[in-house]
Amino acid sequence: MEIFKKVSEGARSITEGAKTIGKKSGDLVETTRLKMEISKLEKEMENNITALGNLVYMQYKGDEGLKEEIDRLLLSTRALESDIDEINDQIIKINPKPPACANCHEELPQNVKFCPNCGTKVPEVEKPAE
Ligand SMILES: [Zn+2]
Repeated sequence: MEIFKKVSEGARSITEGAKTIGKKSGDLVETTRLKMEISKLEKEMENNITALGNLVYMQYKGDEGLKEEIDRLLLSTRALESDIDEINDQIIKINPKPPACANCHEELPQNVKFCPNCGTKVPEVEKPAE
């Protein structure tokens, strides 16, 4: 009888494993998409900053009427930067980092009450900050 029990348990864990893989690959696709989005925005930021450098230099040399264009580029660069931050947050939400010790920042094994490295108490339930 024992052997039948083992077989059915094995079958169940395979199904659960498959579910996890399904979710994981979906997350991976989404993470890849977000990372591509970030590199696109980073390119735009780079272009903006290059343009800003040129404009500031032209202004230094005495060209006038560049202030508006410089301000526009500064604003759009700042907006790009916060978009990148937001996307990075999304990536972190999809791929939560394993909990780390608040004191020594060592990665914590699951279900420990105290940090094995420095002995700091681990908070009971860690909910992702919103
Ligand atoms: Zn620690």
